[in-house]
Amino acid sequence: MSDLRRTLPSVSALLESAGVRALLADAPRPLVVDAVREVVARARESGASVPKGPDGWVQAVADRLATTRRASLRPVLNATGVVLHTNLGRAPLARAAIDAVARVAAGYANLEYELSSGERGSRYTHCTALLTELTGAQDALVVNNCAAALVLALDTVASGREAILSRGELVEIGGGFRVHEIMAKSGARLREVGATNRTHVGDYAAAIGPATGALLKVHRSNFQVVGFTADASVRELAPLARAHDLPILHDLGSGLLIPLDDAGLTGEPTAGEALAAGANVVMMSGDKLLGGPQAGLIVGDARYLAAMRANPLARAYRVDKMTLAALEATLALYREPSVARREIPTLALLCAPVSEVRARAERCAARLRAGGVACALVDDDATVGAGAFPTAILPSVALALDGDAERWAAALRTGEPAVVGRVRDGRLLLDLRTIPDADVDALAGAVVAARA
Ligand SMILES: *Cc1c(COP(=O)(O)O)cnc(C)c1O
Repeated sequence: MSDLRRTLPSVSALLESAGVRALLADAPRPLVVDAVREVVARARESGASVPKGPDGWVQAVADRLATTRRASLRPVLNATGVVLHTNLGRAPLARAAIDAVARVAAGYANLEYELSSGERGSRYTHCTALLTELTGAQDALVVNNCAAALVLALDTVASGREAILSRGELVEIGGGFRVHEIMAKSGARLREVGATNRTHVGDYAAAIGPATGALLKVHRSNFQVVGFTADASVRELAPLARAHDLPILHDLGSGLLIPLDDAGLTGEPTAGEALAAGANVVMMSGDKLLGGPQAGLIVGDARYLAAMRANPLARAYRVDKMTLAALEATLALYREPSVARREIPTLALLCAPVSEVRARAERCAARLRAGGVACALVDDDATVGAGAFPTAILPSVALALDGDAERWAAALRTGEPAVVGRVRDGRLLLDLRTIPDADVDALAGAVVAARA
């Protein structure tokens, strides 16, 4: 044992020292005691972690305490170039949505209360008018997420019966979300038709019988089928469904409310287009392309929506006042599409011209060089993410940092604020497509702080 380790202070002596006693002013005693014990134990194990002098010991205890008290969930600067990054929380909220959450979060709200009559109301009324206005649907319902929306829809219209689905749409979205497993939970039986690459209206027609409860269409969010392919569209299936009085349920996934063709994002239908094509129930996420909070939005025919609202599962999947506040404020921005594109961060990041991204990268690079970090601007390909527009490439600009990529990545991830980038060709890239203007300085500061 080294000399240093032979003279370690005792836990009780440290607790009595003025520096550690000062820490008790704003930390609960058991946490401080734990921190002291850990610092002493670590010093006993390894001579390399013996603090130097009384101040060193107090600092080590303070650092240990800070680590314990740090929030588990904290903000991250997303420099991956993936706009809707599911692991990083998908859509950042618009200012209006954040303000709306703050307005209802601290106090009470008319969540299930009719202010005009003084009677009990329903939480399901809050976003309904906006959703029907924006999609042309008869009715709307908001639940916890799109996966819940799919279970609720299937359980309501096809429990104990068959839902017909093309083999080409038997998809895994990610994070364990597989359509056939979700269907099994809903009590609906999956009736597969067609082939992986080709399914025709006739395949659905041949499968319809007394046990049929619904026709299901699932958007191929995260992959494409190319080559010798055929697909029965909702528009082509609508007459068949009508003739048998069967609903078409369309899991749209992303939840586009306005077309984004001019930003080069083509091929995804908006919710309104999906309904106009003949879908009876359309389901989508609140936190993908829509750019709002996590939620599952269900829009469609009043008869199916009323049945879903009365299903006990709707209670299990219900959303809270903060989700509804954020969603209502986000939806309201869509009343003026140009406002939505400017104010909703997801849309603004997706639609920004590459010249704007380059300007952000140049501004950040200047700050880095001033702080002693060498870097180069490189062209990069950003992506939409979250299984939307899977093949779309968003032209982008990244900063490639000089030095060991893995060391940079680790230092940035554990910094304050945390930064997540991407390693390419042995260099750490920070893609500015996913860094809003307002965060450029914070990004530069975090990188300068993380340099070796
Ligand atoms: C993303 C996605 C879902 C799941 O949506 P969550 O809101 O994450 O539950 C369901 N279906 C499709 C087609 C999707 O792309």
